[in-house]
Amino acid sequence: MLGQMMTAPLLISALIDHAARYHGDTEITSVNTGGGHETTNWGTVARNAKQLASALQGLGLGPQTRCATIAWNNRRHLEIYFGVSGGGFVCHTINPRLFPDQLVYIINHAEDEVLFIDSTFVPLVASIRDQLTTLKHIVLLEDTVGAAAETLPDLIAYDDLLAQGDAEYQYPQFDELTASSLCYTSGTTGNPKGVLFSHRSTVLHSFACNLKDSLGFSAMDVVLPVVPMFHVNAWGTPYACAMVGARMVLPGPGLDGPSLVALIDTHKVSIALGVPTIWLGLLGEAEKAGSALSSLQRTVVGGSACPPSMIAAFRDTFGVETIHAWGMTEMSPIGSVNQPLAKHLDLETEALHRLRENQGRPPWGVELAIVDEAGHPLPHDGKTQGELLVRGHFILDAYFRATSSDTLQDGWFNTGDIATLDPDGYLTIRDRSKDIIKSGGEWISSVELENIAIAHPHLSDAAVIGAPHPKWDERPVLVAVMAEGAAPDAEDLLAFFEGKIAKWQIPDKVVFTDALPRNATGKVLKRDLRDTFAKILLT
Ligand code: ADP
Repeated sequence: MLGQMMTAPLLISALIDHAARYHGDTEITSVNTGGGHETTNWGTVARNAKQLASALQGLGLGPQTRCATIAWNNRRHLEIYFGVSGGGFVCHTINPRLFPDQLVYIINHAEDEVLFIDSTFVPLVASIRDQLTTLKHIVLLEDTVGAAAETLPDLIAYDDLLAQGDAEYQYPQFDELTASSLCYTSGTTGNPKGVLFSHRSTVLHSFACNLKDSLGFSAMDVVLPVVPMFHVNAWGTPYACAMVGARMVLPGPGLDGPSLVALIDTHKVSIALGVPTIWLGLLGEAEKAGSALSSLQRTVVGGSACPPSMIAAFRDTFGVETIHAWGMTEMSPIGSVNQPLAKHLDLETEALHRLRENQGRPPWGVELAIVDEAGHPLPHDGKTQGELLVRGHFILDAYFRATSSDTLQDGWFNTGDIATLDPDGYLTIRDRSKDIIKSGGEWISSVELENIAIAHPHLSDAAVIGAPHPKWDERPVLVAVMAEGAAPDAEDLLAFFEGKIAKWQIPDKVVFTDALPRNATGKVLKRDLRDTFAKILLT
């Protein structure tokens, strides 16, 4: 017997239709690529998105044609998110920080036919244009093409394309399992791999995002996604914000501390989201500028481990609650969010602060497990560490153009992370499996050592790697970047670890560098550091 309730497919178009219907006058502020900013609202974004979908149909694109973007977080990009997917095409967001060879690879692999670009990326796209074999239309996210047309002759202006569409267009209805968007992982080894999200997974992820025990956006919030819209759909914020009618502030290209502090203060941002390195710049700048960040209530930090010293700085200096979250592109991306349970209300302040440091627990829709190298389940006792497996409603089944049997392990996705889980499901990421330091048969978490190092006032950045050692296989080496005007001594830095960690886990050596190498999503390239310092403990 079937239930007798109305059913409609869970489509992305329903999110933007809802935002237009009930939150039409809620403002969206967007920083322009060329400077200045504009303020519009959900109603106008929704109307433009429809017009875009209609214009794309007018170009004669077939269902699920891939329409790519290389763009900052701005109003037109937001319209593309909804217009492209709503119209039944696939929105393929591309990270401009990838190497040109990787850009060519993924655009051809995705068979993108349309490419929307911000003016910043005109030279980049011009340099690879003749290698993009499937591309038919390049659209500049501006009102006119201007001088850019000299570099890219067939360029169309976004506003001209929009003018060809019908604002009264109605989105088509189709199966909710249809592909909606595509995002490639940065691929530190081998070629990037595509993760093809569906309408259903995106809508369910938005619900998971908006739970009070998760990120909990609401119509009362002003949301600043600093995490780029080319990085796992800005962690899903555009969809989740449309679902609840939250106000959005889109920061454009300026992600430096002073620009972000000004945006937060001017637009009374209540919740901001980004990777730890972004907040390092912001915290320093806010203190320098004498800003109290008074509107900011919460900040969501993920993508790499959030150092406890950063959580404390937000809390103690600015009264901002940090929500530490973990996830990956393959999970849409939210896998766990650090929110307390009712039983934690009785904890002493210090213990509660410690509880908030780990990567948190999974929202509905995600299941976590840890296994040993042979795939046997390990206990969730908060101590035993193992390979972290995930499954759920918004987790990939297979990479784009691969099969489930190539991708999964007994129905689970292996994250490549080493973690512990406690009985309440709280997750602590110890390391990526390829970065964990194997010293004399024991494992040392580089994340834990980095969290300590970064709290040292004379360091601005730090990474810990395992370097080959004649007796212990590997020993930890701290690669440190000095804070401006500071000249810390290696001995002092090593002494800083004492009492904070078992003695045998303290790094053997400190090396200084001007900047850490990072990949396109801002993660430290540990492999490069391991190559550079491969012999440092052997001589
Ligand atoms: P994203 O695109 O969201 O950064 P990626 O797919 O590039 O995700 O990388 C996912 C990996 O990033 C995870 O497997 C994990 O190793 C790391 N990561 C993400 N969030 C955290 C976190 N809060 N703490 C530690 N590591 C994290």
